Amino acid sequence: MRVLFATAEVYPLAKTGGLADASRGLAIALKRRGIDVQLVVPGYADALERVERPETVAKLDSVMGVCDATLVRGLLPRSNIPVWLVNAPTLFQRRGGLYQDEHGRDWADSAVRFAYFARAAHGLATGRYGSAWRPDIVHANDWHAGLLPLLLRSEQSPGPRTVFTVHNMAFQGNFPMDVLPSLDIPCGFHDNIEFHGQVSFLKAGLSCADRVTTVSPTYAKEVLTPECGCGMDGVLRARSDHFSGILNGIEDTTWNPATDPWLPCGYIVKDRSGKGVCKLALQQEFGLAKDPGAVVIGFISRLTEQKMADAVLQLLPWLANLPVQFALMGNGDRETEIGLVKEAWQHKGKVSVKIGYDERLAHLMIAGSDILLAPARFEPCGLTQLYALRYGTLPVVRRTGGLADTITDVTAASIKDGSASGFIFDEPTAEGLRSAIERALDTYHKPLRWRALQRHVMAKDLGWNSSAERYVALYSEVSATDCIETDGEDAAVQAPQPREALN
Ligand code: ADP
Repeated sequence: MRVLFATAEVYPLAKTGGLADASRGLAIALKRRGIDVQLVVPGYADALERVERPETVAKLDSVMGVCDATLVRGLLPRSNIPVWLVNAPTLFQRRGGLYQDEHGRDWADSAVRFAYFARAAHGLATGRYGSAWRPDIVHANDWHAGLLPLLLRSEQSPGPRTVFTVHNMAFQGNFPMDVLPSLDIPCGFHDNIEFHGQVSFLKAGLSCADRVTTVSPTYAKEVLTPECGCGMDGVLRARSDHFSGILNGIEDTTWNPATDPWLPCGYIVKDRSGKGVCKLALQQEFGLAKDPGAVVIGFISRLTEQKMADAVLQLLPWLANLPVQFALMGNGDRETEIGLVKEAWQHKGKVSVKIGYDERLAHLMIAGSDILLAPARFEPCGLTQLYALRYGTLPVVRRTGGLADTITDVTAASIKDGSASGFIFDEPTAEGLRSAIERALDTYHKPLRWRALQRHVMAKDLGWNSSAERYVALYSEVSATDCIETDGEDAAVQAPQPREALN
C-alpha cells in the first residue's frame, strides 16, 4: 500500500503545533507497519534546510502566477521516510511564520499559497511530474490540503482514493469569494468549496474526500453538533457514514524522557531522579528560585481562547499567593500576552512567563514541571497532556474532545482500578480550572499517592500502534470499497501522462 501524506507541517521540518508531531508520528508508525508512506509538504526555507539529502527532481507547473517552482525530494530526518517539498520560493520562503507575517497577520495570499500546494501534490499523486511512485491513497490533512481531495475527485481517470483528516475544525481556510477565479476550481465543484458566501478549503476536503477523520472519537461526536461544529456540522452530518475519530498518539523517538536530547538528564519510570535535575534546570531558565522541593506548575500553549489562556491569566494572582512556582511559555493573543507579562513582573520569582516558541524549552518544561495545565474550551485531541503523562507530570484538563478520551480523573475509584491519570474539570471557566488545580495540589502533598500516579502514567501505552492500525484498516477499506464503486466505470480513461520531468 502506497500512501502520499499531504501536510502543511511535519516535525522537524516545520512546526507550529500538534499537526507537525502527529504527521511525523503517524508516518513513522505507518512505515513500521509496512506501508510505503511518503510526505508532501510546502518548501518553507527551514524545511529545505532541514530535509536530508534534498534533490530537485522536477519543474512544477507555472500556474497561479508562480513561475519558478520545483519539486524537491529528500528524507524526513531520523526516519528514512521520503518527503517531497513544493519549492515555490515566492510563496513559501519569507520572513515570518508558516501562516503569518512577522506581525502576526495572516499572509494576504494564503489561499493561493495552499491552492498551489494542493495542485503540486495533486500533480505528484497523478504522475504529472514523472515520478514512477504513485500512491494508492492520498491522505490530506487540514484545510491547507483541503483542495487536494477535490482535485482528485474531479479527475476523469480512477486515481488514488482519498482520506482527509481534520486536526482542528476551527481552522477552515475561509476566504472572500473574489479569490475563487485565481484558484481555477474544476467545473462542477463550486458547490464543494462555497461556504456561506465564502470559499472554504476545509469544506472542499470534507465534502470531496472518500473518508473523513478527525483526531479523537469524542471530538468526532462533538463536531456533529451546532455548538461544536464551527459551522461545519451540517457538512459533516452529510458525510457521517464516512466520518470517524482516530486518536493521535506519541511519537517515541522524539518524546521519550529516557532518550530526549533536549533534557539535561534523562529518566525512566523506575528511576526518576533525572526529573529532579530537569526541575532545577527549568527553575534556572525561568528565573525561579532553585528549590527541588517547590511544586512547579507549567503551561505550554498557544495563548488563545481555545486553550483558555484568558482563564490562566485570571488565575495568576491567586496562583502567585500559593506556595507554588508557575512557568508559562506560549504566544498568541496579544492582549493575553501583555497581561501575562505584567503579572509575571508583579510576581517575580514565583511566576515566570516566556512569550515565544522554543522546542527545547517545551521539552524541559514538560519534564521539569510537576503539574501541567492543559485546559481547553474545545480540544480535537491535544498532545501536551499525553507528553505530560509520558514524562511523569500530572495534567489538569477540561472534559472535552481528546482530553476526555485520554485522561481519567483522579478519584478514589480510578486510583484503585489503576486508570487515574489527571485532574479533570467541566466548567470552561477560571473557577473550573482553579478547582482542578486545587485537587492536583492536594494530591501532590500525598507523596506516596503522587509517586504511584507518576509510575502508573509513565508506564501507559500512549504510542501510535493501535491508531496506526486503524488508519491502515481505513486505507484498506476505502481502497476495496472504491474499487468496487468505480469498477469498469472509468477503466477506459487513460491516466495523465507524466511530463516536465528533469530527470
Ligand atoms: P495544538 O492545538 O496547539 O496543536 P497540541 O497539544 O495538539 O495543541 O500540540 C501542541 C504542540 O505544540 C506540542 O508539541 C507542544 O509542546 C507545542 N507547543 C505549544 N506551544 C509551544 C511553544 N510556545 N513553544 C514550543 N512548543 C510549543
